[in-house]
Amino acid sequence: MPIREKQLRDKYNMNQPSRNGFQSLLSDVRQFVREHIEPLESEFLSKPFRELLPIFAEKRRAVKAAGLWAPQLPVEYGGLGLRLTEFAQISEELGRTPIGHYLFNCQAPDAGNMEVLMMHGNQQQKAQFLLPLARGEIRSCFSMTEPEHAGSNPAWMSTTAVKDGDDYVINGHKWFTSSAEGAAFAIVMAVTDPEAASPYKRASQIIVPTSTPGFRIVRNISVMGDEGSDYASHAEVVYEDCRVPRANLLSAEGDGFGIAQERLGPGRIQHCMRWVGICERAFEMMCRQAARRELSPGVPLASRQSIQHWIAECRARTDSTIRCLAPNRRLGPRPRTVDYGGRLSGGGLPRHHQGNLRIFWRIQLF
Ligand SMILES: Cc1cc2nc3c(=O)[nH]c(=O)nc-3n(C[C@H](O)[C@H](O)[C@H](O)COP(=O)(O)OP(=O)(O)OC[C@H]3O[C@@H](n4cnc5c(N)ncnc54)[C@H](O)[C@@H]3O)c2cc1C
Repeated sequence: MPIREKQLRDKYNMNQPSRNGFQSLLSDVRQFVREHIEPLESEFLSKPFRELLPIFAEKRRAVKAAGLWAPQLPVEYGGLGLRLTEFAQISEELGRTPIGHYLFNCQAPDAGNMEVLMMHGNQQQKAQFLLPLARGEIRSCFSMTEPEHAGSNPAWMSTTAVKDGDDYVINGHKWFTSSAEGAAFAIVMAVTDPEAASPYKRASQIIVPTSTPGFRIVRNISVMGDEGSDYASHAEVVYEDCRVPRANLLSAEGDGFGIAQERLGPGRIQHCMRWVGICERAFEMMCRQAARRELSPGVPLASRQSIQHWIAECRARTDSTIRCLAPNRRLGPRPRTVDYGGRLSGGGLPRHHQGNLRIFWRIQLF
């Protein structure tokens, strides 16, 4: 085990079966989010992302100084070297705020691109693209989905990369390329062998620096009425005779689909746990509002049966989702319900209720 990983694991006592050390890391992350990140949220909601970059850069330095940077990355790349199941729980904590992952340098799509570069990049690609990404000096994007084809079937696409001497010449049309504005490079999915017998062996993944002539952002697509800016945006992009060295190919030709699937595996868990974090935060806000809002003097919203049903249903849905995603994750103790006096009451669910949650979830599904 590398020395820094050992130091981190020792600091948080993470080698002990009790997992107390990991709980202490989680609580450090939680405290950092509450003290340093949540106070930035009103600015995040009222100003364009790009205007806040200097403040965010300062916070990113603070995350590094606190020893919490890039929890998903191995220690040799400057991260905490956590396992996927450990990172899933950190992801939940960071998901409580929309800027948590970005400030800890474990945000999509960069986290996925880092994984791809770690697993499939050669030494040169790692030095040029992965290391600055891991240090948070640059950002990246992932360009797969096309307007002309169903994104849920990424074996079918029109973007091509044709060999020409030592280069690939890329032509195509992509959209929903998250965070393309301000990114230093894109990992592009393009067809290199349209004749391959298997549709899963036709595409490759190629690194395209966004400064390459022919890479053009058409617009940022409005999502829920907001086109966003910089990291917080999703672009329509065209590649017009975009020429990059063949050395920018990741892995081998035809491996693009396989790499995309590999990337999606951990990505799904990370996305879902981030949503659990969002749900937890929303749940707490809902309980607080139900407890504080009075329908008439001394009669809070929380005293109404329908409100109590809604709260119970939300709690059960979130807990059953956690059970599906992270079966070993302990539930509670933390605020869970609103008592009749209109206060938040603490305490996790007893163990026998956790089995009932699975039944609840199955009933919801079928
Ligand atoms: C906010 C956001 C960020 C994104 N970021 C990126 C990014 O960074 N890079 C990138 O390349 N792409 C990105 N995407 C695109 C995303 O990958 C696609 O939206 C997704 O793959 C679905 O493709 P589609 O939108 O073309 O929907 P379609 O494939 O057209 O699907 C339409 C609907 O049909 C359903 N459907 C599809 N196939 C089936 C089936 N076989 N059976 C039943 N139902 C089906 C789907 O669930 C969906 O409801 C992003 C999308 C969003 C919304």
